[in-house]
Amino acid sequence: MWKVPAKLLAQLGDELSAWGVALAALVAGGLLTGALAIATQTFYKQQLRQRFELLAGERYSRIAERFEEQEQRLDGLRRFFSYSNEVTPSEFAGFARPLLRRTQAFSWAPRVEGSQRVAFERASSERLQMPYGIRDRSADGTWQPAAARDLYYPILYTQATSQQPQPIGFDLRGQPLRAATLARALSPGSMAVSAPLDMLNVEPGYSRGLLIVAPVFSEPATEGAVPRGYVMALLSLRQLINESLPTEADDDLVVRIYDLSSGGAHEVLFDSGNQPAALSLVSSELLHLADHHFQLDIRPSVDFLQANRSSAVAVVGIFGGLLSLLLATLLYSLFSQRQRALGLVARRTAELRVSEQSLRETHNQLRSVLDAATQVAIIATSLKGVVSTFNAGAERMLGYSAGEALGHLTLEDLVQPEELHRRAHTLSLRYGREIGAGQAMFAETVREGGTQPVDWTLVRKDGSHLLANMLVTTVLDEQGLWVGYLAICIDVTERRRVHEALAARDRLLEKLSAEVPGGIYQYRLDADGHSCFPYASQGLHDIYEVDLALLREDATVVFQRIHPDDLERVRQSVRYSAEHLTPWREEYRVCLPRAGLRWVRGEATPEIGEHACTLWHGYLTDISDLKRVEEELRALSVTDALTGIHNRRYFQDRLGSELERARRDGLALAVIMLDIDHFKRINDQYGHAVGDLVLRTLCQRIGQRLRRTDVFCRLGGEEFMVLCPGSDAEQARLLALKLWHGVREVPVEGVGRVTASFGVAGWRDGEGADALLLRADAGVYAAKMAGRDRVEGELP
Ligand code: GH3
Ligand code: MG
Ligand code: MG
Repeated sequence: MWKVPAKLLAQLGDELSAWGVALAALVAGGLLTGALAIATQTFYKQQLRQRFELLAGERYSRIAERFEEQEQRLDGLRRFFSYSNEVTPSEFAGFARPLLRRTQAFSWAPRVEGSQRVAFERASSERLQMPYGIRDRSADGTWQPAAARDLYYPILYTQATSQQPQPIGFDLRGQPLRAATLARALSPGSMAVSAPLDMLNVEPGYSRGLLIVAPVFSEPATEGAVPRGYVMALLSLRQLINESLPTEADDDLVVRIYDLSSGGAHEVLFDSGNQPAALSLVSSELLHLADHHFQLDIRPSVDFLQANRSSAVAVVGIFGGLLSLLLATLLYSLFSQRQRALGLVARRTAELRVSEQSLRETHNQLRSVLDAATQVAIIATSLKGVVSTFNAGAERMLGYSAGEALGHLTLEDLVQPEELHRRAHTLSLRYGREIGAGQAMFAETVREGGTQPVDWTLVRKDGSHLLANMLVTTVLDEQGLWVGYLAICIDVTERRRVHEALAARDRLLEKLSAEVPGGIYQYRLDADGHSCFPYASQGLHDIYEVDLALLREDATVVFQRIHPDDLERVRQSVRYSAEHLTPWREEYRVCLPRAGLRWVRGEATPEIGEHACTLWHGYLTDISDLKRVEEELRALSVTDALTGIHNRRYFQDRLGSELERARRDGLALAVIMLDIDHFKRINDQYGHAVGDLVLRTLCQRIGQRLRRTDVFCRLGGEEFMVLCPGSDAEQARLLALKLWHGVREVPVEGVGRVTASFGVAGWRDGEGADALLLRADAGVYAAKMAGRDRVEGELP
């Protein structure tokens, strides 16, 4: 009872432990993969930082370099002015133009005292060969002559990258931001940078910039001297930084420069404008330009991240995951296989133990069964036929005790020797080789697979015989090899006796039925209308000319043999007999392929059979001969023996039925009556035989002249009557005249002319047979009276 759950639990346990190992492997693999992925990620981040720092450092040095370069160039220009007293416009252009790299403009603004203004403007107009005035720029962007001040620093020379007109004459002191810048560069060698300002006359995108100014002193410079003018450079940070660097679209770095001089919020002087990456990396450096400080912020851009994207982590993750999964699957499969194998061994062992136990039980049961089968002899033998098992049935049947039989007797010893030899001989002939008596018992077993039991005459211990039905089969061991035979015998002496008695009965029935004229049969009609002849003696074959085996299944063919005019009558009588359980009796015609038309008479008695069928037991005989005799007799009874025409009885029957018909259908009917004239004389003169000849001749002559429908009869002696259905009196008279002629026309051989007297009567409505005949007779009488040999028409 607990076996199944225990087995299930064990199996479940095995499954679970295999799953456990697989899960552990999967978790360990997952953790390892995770750690590896984290390490990879850390390494990647570090690499990213290093690369960024490298890039940012490089960018910073390039920008710082450019700032420094601008300072150096402006210093160069200052020195150029310091060492020359007078600089012509072309000299300025010659010197300043090559310096214009990443610089919007270099300018020179000399110092002009308020008193010298007019002279200076005139001299400058001449020098520049264009009208020149010191100008101020108003807030709304218009130019106007500068207001009167004690000191001016107007721009005199300018070299610019832009092609736009330059603000020549623009007084730096007239504008507070620029004036403040000048004020911060007063000592020799100093330089000042303005706060971010909107430059004048430069490309719109580049207008936000810085102004660097450097004072120029007369050499050698003395203590407390004032600058003789300023050289200045106008810088656009956009130009300064962007030039020859990656464009915004493909720059790995996001660069921003803040102006630190302005208080509060620092103005963004430069922004590379591209999208920063979502990374915490940033490099902040200070930039110096003259007396000014800027903050340079560099961040990695989205481009940077894309360029340095690492798939290592994903690869590690996927590969690690896959490897873990593979490892887990492998371990699961190994473990579960091992567990299954162990389970299988345990189960097989248990099963073997159980089957061993059940084998033992089966053996005991078999022993009990063998001993219990007292009506059946069960005998097992070795391959050589020596008895190894002899059950209680065998002891009872053969009279040997098991002790006597086992190991001593062979199966062959138990069989009648003559029969064994006879069988051996038959088998030898059949198989075309010598088969010994010892093999004869098994030969068929081996050949036919031992499925057919054979009857043998066995010999008991006391020498008496018994008839047994023996089934011999081979006994195979587990490898399928023959180890012996098993014979099972049933005593069939009694069965054989009954069988023979039945056979004798059958033979008796066969003989009896063969002696009976016709055939005897059993006919069965089922509720569904199907019918057959379960038994039919040989006689039935002659009666119907059908295969009896066919009749046993189906009686249809019998009904096909019955004459069509009789078939329905036969069917009805069979039905009636079945319904009322009254004896069936019938005479009918059959049409046979060989014998042709025959008459059959049948008689049978019905009874109710199984499944609501009706069973008849009866006989059939051929009554054709009887029928023929009957027919002949019948014909004789209505025929005149001398003339062969119908007699008076027939005439009367026929007249009755014709009258009936005429009455019913309203048809005409007439009779002609005739009487030979002086026949007595013929008899007397030529003899009675000649008289007979005359009667026959006359009948012939009249018969030839009648219609098919007319009925000709001899009433008796030499009186005749013709019945004419469908004719009236006149038509009958005409016919009578024809007959009269026919009779008298040719003389009868040896007699001469024979005449007759004719009377005619047509049937009148309501008239009876006697009245009609009387009138015809009266006609004959009248003819006789009138001198004979004539036809007397119908009398009134
Ligand atoms: P009538 O003209 O008046 O009829 O004269 P008849 O001689 O024919 O008249 P009747 O009826 O007296 O005679 C009939 C005779 O016919 C009487 C009988 O001997 C004879 N006859 C009756 N039956 C037979 C027969 O079967 N054979 C022969 N040969 N003669 C017969
Ligand atoms: Mg007559
Ligand atoms: Mg007569």
